[in-house]
Amino acid sequence: MEDKHIIDLLEEHGIKPTANRIVIASALAAGKTPLSLKELEYSILSIDKSNISRTLALFRKHRLVHDIEDGGGCVKYELCMSHAEDDDEDMHVHFYCESCHKTFCLWDTPIPEVSVPAGFVRKSVNYVLKGLCDDCARKKALRRQ
Ligand SMILES: [Zn+2]
Ligand SMILES: [Zn+2]
Repeated sequence: MEDKHIIDLLEEHGIKPTANRIVIASALAAGKTPLSLKELEYSILSIDKSNISRTLALFRKHRLVHDIEDGGGCVKYELCMSHAEDDDEDMHVHFYCESCHKTFCLWDTPIPEVSVPAGFVRKSVNYVLKGLCDDCARKKALRRQ
Protein backbone atom coordinates (compact mmCIF):
# COMPACT_ATOMS: atom_id res chain seq x y z
CA MET A 1 0.00 0.00 0.00
CA GLU A 2 1.27 3.48 -0.80
CA ASP A 3 1.85 6.02 1.95
CA LYS A 4 -1.03 8.10 0.70
CA HIS A 5 -3.41 5.19 1.10
CA ILE A 6 -2.07 4.51 4.56
CA ILE A 7 -2.62 8.14 5.52
CA ASP A 8 -6.19 7.98 4.20
CA LEU A 9 -6.79 4.78 6.11
CA LEU A 10 -5.53 6.31 9.36
CA GLU A 11 -7.63 9.42 8.87
CA GLU A 12 -10.74 7.40 8.03
CA HIS A 13 -10.36 5.74 11.39
CA GLY A 14 -9.89 9.05 13.19
CA ILE A 15 -6.18 8.57 13.81
CA LYS A 16 -3.72 11.41 13.31
CA PRO A 17 -1.13 10.13 10.81
CA THR A 18 2.19 10.67 12.54
CA ALA A 19 5.41 9.34 11.00
CA ASN A 20 5.60 6.36 13.38
CA ARG A 21 1.97 5.41 12.89
CA ILE A 22 2.42 5.46 9.12
CA VAL A 23 5.46 3.18 9.41
CA ILE A 24 3.63 0.72 11.67
CA ALA A 25 0.46 0.67 9.57
CA SER A 26 2.59 0.18 6.43
CA ALA A 27 4.37 -2.77 8.01
CA LEU A 28 1.01 -4.35 8.83
CA ALA A 29 -0.21 -3.70 5.30
CA ALA A 30 2.97 -5.19 3.83
CA GLY A 31 2.71 -8.39 5.86
CA LYS A 32 0.97 -11.06 3.87
CA THR A 33 -0.18 -12.70 7.08
CA PRO A 34 -1.20 -11.22 10.44
CA LEU A 35 1.90 -10.27 12.45
CA SER A 36 2.78 -10.65 16.10
CA LEU A 37 4.33 -7.82 18.08
CA LYS A 38 7.66 -9.62 17.85
CA GLU A 39 7.45 -9.92 14.07
CA LEU A 40 6.58 -6.23 13.85
CA GLU A 41 9.57 -5.40 16.03
CA TYR A 42 11.85 -7.29 13.66
CA SER A 43 10.46 -5.57 10.61
CA ILE A 44 10.56 -2.07 12.13
CA LEU A 45 13.95 -1.49 13.66
CA SER A 46 13.53 2.26 13.84
CA ILE A 47 10.74 2.23 16.44
CA ASP A 48 11.05 0.72 19.91
CA LYS A 49 8.82 -2.01 21.21
CA SER A 50 6.86 0.05 23.74
CA ASN A 51 6.09 2.59 21.07
CA ILE A 52 4.88 -0.11 18.69
CA SER A 53 2.69 -1.66 21.34
CA ARG A 54 1.20 1.70 22.32
CA THR A 55 0.45 2.41 18.68
CA LEU A 56 -1.20 -0.99 18.25
CA ALA A 57 -3.40 -0.29 21.29
CA LEU A 58 -4.45 2.98 19.69
CA PHE A 59 -5.12 1.28 16.36
CA ARG A 60 -7.25 -1.27 18.15
CA LYS A 61 -9.23 1.37 19.95
CA HIS A 62 -10.03 2.98 16.62
CA ARG A 63 -10.73 -0.39 15.04
CA LEU A 64 -7.99 -0.06 12.50
CA VAL A 65 -6.55 -3.42 13.49
CA HIS A 66 -8.01 -6.69 14.58
CA ASP A 67 -6.17 -8.76 17.08
CA ILE A 68 -6.33 -12.47 16.69
CA GLU A 69 -5.42 -15.13 19.18
CA ASP A 70 -3.49 -17.17 16.73
CA GLY A 71 -3.95 -20.57 18.29
CA GLY A 72 -0.30 -20.83 19.29
CA GLY A 73 -0.54 -18.69 22.40
CA CYS A 74 0.36 -15.52 20.60
CA VAL A 75 -1.63 -12.44 19.60
CA LYS A 76 -1.32 -11.29 16.01
CA TYR A 77 -2.47 -8.11 14.38
CA GLU A 78 -3.95 -7.36 11.00
CA LEU A 79 -5.36 -4.26 9.40
CA CYS A 80 -9.12 -4.23 9.25
CA MET A 81 -10.20 -4.15 5.64
CA SER A 82 -13.75 -3.20 6.41
CA HIS A 83 -14.63 0.45 6.08
CA ALA A 84 -17.98 0.28 7.79
CA GLU A 85 -18.13 2.41 10.92
CA ASP A 86 -20.04 0.23 13.39
CA ASP A 87 -20.28 -3.06 11.72
CA ASP A 88 -16.56 -3.40 11.85
CA GLU A 89 -16.48 -6.89 10.89
CA ASP A 90 -14.33 -7.84 8.17
CA MET A 91 -14.62 -11.20 9.85
CA HIS A 92 -13.02 -14.17 8.28
CA VAL A 93 -11.65 -17.47 9.40
CA HIS A 94 -7.96 -17.78 10.25
CA PHE A 95 -5.76 -20.78 9.81
CA TYR A 96 -2.83 -21.44 12.12
CA CYS A 97 -0.05 -23.64 10.80
CA GLU A 98 1.32 -25.74 13.63
CA SER A 99 4.54 -26.31 11.72
CA CYS A 100 5.69 -22.84 10.60
CA HIS A 101 3.53 -20.95 13.15
CA LYS A 102 2.16 -18.55 10.57
CA THR A 103 -1.43 -17.39 10.69
CA PHE A 104 -3.26 -17.11 7.40
CA CYS A 105 -6.35 -15.08 6.54
CA LEU A 106 -8.92 -17.19 4.77
CA TRP A 107 -10.54 -14.20 3.08
CA ASP A 108 -13.03 -16.33 1.20
CA THR A 109 -14.20 -18.18 4.27
CA PRO A 110 -16.64 -16.06 6.25
CA ILE A 111 -17.18 -16.91 9.88
CA PRO A 112 -20.37 -18.94 10.22
CA GLU A 113 -23.19 -17.28 12.11
CA VAL A 114 -23.27 -18.68 15.64
CA SER A 115 -26.19 -17.81 17.87
CA VAL A 116 -25.66 -16.87 21.51
CA PRO A 117 -28.09 -17.36 24.41
CA ALA A 118 -30.63 -14.63 25.13
CA GLY A 119 -29.06 -11.72 26.96
CA PHE A 120 -25.52 -12.35 25.72
CA VAL A 121 -23.96 -9.67 23.58
CA ARG A 122 -21.41 -10.84 21.09
CA LYS A 123 -18.58 -8.40 20.47
CA SER A 124 -16.05 -10.34 18.54
CA VAL A 125 -15.32 -13.77 17.22
CA ASN A 126 -12.06 -15.62 17.07
CA TYR A 127 -12.32 -18.45 14.65
CA VAL A 128 -9.05 -20.26 14.09
CA LEU A 129 -8.49 -23.55 12.35
CA LYS A 130 -5.24 -25.37 13.05
CA GLY A 131 -3.23 -27.72 10.95
CA LEU A 132 -0.63 -27.52 8.23
CA CYS A 133 -0.43 -24.83 5.57
CA ASP A 134 -0.02 -25.93 1.96
CA ASP A 135 3.76 -25.42 2.03
CA CYS A 136 4.28 -27.41 5.21
CA ALA A 137 1.87 -30.14 4.13
CA ARG A 138 3.80 -30.51 0.87
CA LYS A 139 7.17 -30.67 2.66
CA LYS A 140 5.81 -33.30 4.99
CA ALA A 141 4.50 -35.39 2.10
CA LEU A 142 7.90 -35.15 0.38
CA ARG A 143 9.71 -36.31 3.51
CA ARG A 144 7.50 -39.37 3.66
CA GLN A 145 8.40 -40.54 0.16
ZN1 LIG B 1 3.22 -23.89 7.53
ZN1 LIG C 1 -7.24 -12.13 8.82
